[in-house]
Amino acid sequence: MPASPTLLLTNAIILTMDATLTQYEPGAVAVQGDLIAAVGSEAEIRAQFPAAQIIDCGGKVLMPGLINAHTHAAMTLLRGLADDLRLDVWLLGYMIPVERAFVSPDFVRLGTQLACAEMIRSGVTCFADMYYFEDSVARATADAGLRGVLGQTVLKFPAPDASSFEESLEAARTFLQAWKGHPLVIPSVAPHAPYTCTPDILRACAALAAEFDVPLQIHLAETALELTNCRADNGVPVIPYVEHYGILDAKLVAAHCVHIDEGEIGTLLAHNAGVVHNPSSNLKLASGVAPVVGMLKAGLAVGIGTDGAASNNDLDMFEEMRLAALVAKNACNDPTVLPAAQAVAMATRLGARALHMEQLIGSLEPGKRADLILVDIARVHHAPRFRRERDGIYAQLVYTAHASDVTDVMVNGRWVMRDGQLTTLDEKDLLVRAEDYARRIDQFLIEREHSVLSKLIAIGGAQEGESFEVQAKARLADPASVLAALCWPDIEILYERHYREYDTYFSWADPDQGQLRYREDEFLDADGGVSNVRYRLTLLGPAREGRFESDVVLSRSRFLAPATHSLRFYREYFKPARERFIQKDRRRWRVLFRGTEFYLNLDRVEQPDLGYFIEAKSRTWSRRDAEHKAELARELITCLGATPADAVAEDYVQIAGGTY
Ligand SMILES: [Zn+2]
Repeated sequence: MPASPTLLLTNAIILTMDATLTQYEPGAVAVQGDLIAAVGSEAEIRAQFPAAQIIDCGGKVLMPGLINAHTHAAMTLLRGLADDLRLDVWLLGYMIPVERAFVSPDFVRLGTQLACAEMIRSGVTCFADMYYFEDSVARATADAGLRGVLGQTVLKFPAPDASSFEESLEAARTFLQAWKGHPLVIPSVAPHAPYTCTPDILRACAALAAEFDVPLQIHLAETALELTNCRADNGVPVIPYVEHYGILDAKLVAAHCVHIDEGEIGTLLAHNAGVVHNPSSNLKLASGVAPVVGMLKAGLAVGIGTDGAASNNDLDMFEEMRLAALVAKNACNDPTVLPAAQAVAMATRLGARALHMEQLIGSLEPGKRADLILVDIARVHHAPRFRRERDGIYAQLVYTAHASDVTDVMVNGRWVMRDGQLTTLDEKDLLVRAEDYARRIDQFLIEREHSVLSKLIAIGGAQEGESFEVQAKARLADPASVLAALCWPDIEILYERHYREYDTYFSWADPDQGQLRYREDEFLDADGGVSNVRYRLTLLGPAREGRFESDVVLSRSRFLAPATHSLRFYREYFKPARERFIQKDRRRWRVLFRGTEFYLNLDRVEQPDLGYFIEAKSRTWSRRDAEHKAELARELITCLGATPADAVAEDYVQIAGGTY
């Protein structure tokens, strides 16, 4: 005799989602403890369990709980924070700086609770997560009564929960030790992506997953850029690249796989990898369309995920099923591909396979865990119902049903939602606490957006640094005088360079913000060929800090760093009110003049066509030093046969003020 009383769920349209998509109507499911004891026609099951407690399902659909096979649950707290942006601006400009400032065990716990409430309401019984402080995710998930494959993130950058990758690997190990064997939580290790991990990290994560025999989650081939860079840097596409470091030997759960070819599909299949399709996220971030039909045809286990709420912006698996079907049809120009039954299978049985959990969940079969949901299809937007074709019910779920049609959710034999009421979470309390985070994050971003400098610091990589320089500048009719004068004995040349400069200046309505210059330098060799390219970013203070006699400018540079992103990135991130472009050919000498070092720049300003300029500049540290150097700079310019004067190209001087 079974230890726990048997529960019979009767009067239901049962979709088992087993390999042959068996249905029973009216059907019944017997639940004993955390397990499904039997599934069949109602008469048969009632006869088999005459003494069982009966729950009448009122003619609703009874099916396996949906599996959200890729998400970042705690990111519900960042939902709607920044939208309609390119992936890099969204991620580097908003998500990462805000995560750095706010993500804590408390944030992660609350965000996960909010996600669990949303997922339960939409019929999700199991989800796969990758985030920080995964121990807090696991506690919140277990307390909410949901099942999860929960991955501690490892990446090469400092993360909110680890200052180095060694630390995050150690955290992953501790996490695996703590949760291995839990009835609801399957701990896993999650190297974020090939481009955010080093080969060492990939290898170490694969070894850790093997040691604990747990799934390994990773984002693979999400964007075309990732593929292009991988080819350029490693000479191979993404899948062979990670295969080399043992990632495919793990119980792999690969999110996205948008940019993979047939050969890579074969490689994934040969390694029994799970793939997770995230249609909303791919559509919203314009990442492309994953070759889902090809993967399914090849026999790959392809599940469906919502991805995080910051890029979706919800955790609605009904919407994802619908999009998976619609996007595939459109991509293949064929409405017969990815039929509704297959979309439901992806959200259930195939999702379980993708997470390497097919023995436990994914279908209503005796011996599997009792993870199931009831969906009310007797509502107005479902009417009428045709019964002629047995697959019609799947179309109804995929194309008609809303997440809010889910009325009851059971996980591991326990109701976590009954008649539309959550039994494990206090939604009112979650909403109040989530609003509090939104208020604080808004405030943080309002303060940051106020200043170009703080926006610059937020995207990291460089510290605030301030330097001052004096410069004397003059327009030249003919550069010959300068070249001749450089031979004079009181000018000692320390070195010489030749390059082309392409400067883009951003400015804003408030002149106190200064100007941000994006500079591309092409260094030219003796033959005029490009020997090297350098990108730099400089935040220039207001062009003139103090007026010196006539032509000499004292300028301030507050920030200088290699420009690690594209001009397009900075434009979208900083949203300048005005943009100016200057192109020049520059010959530069470092010289000693009367014991003081100067940079001499001989510029031919080509765009706009302003002709030749000579400028002498030197860094300075005090007002007295500045006055002394200003005098020398004027003298040097005069020595070079030019006449320093204010009047020339004032606008250009303004814009170029502060360059060095
Ligand atoms: Zn993701």
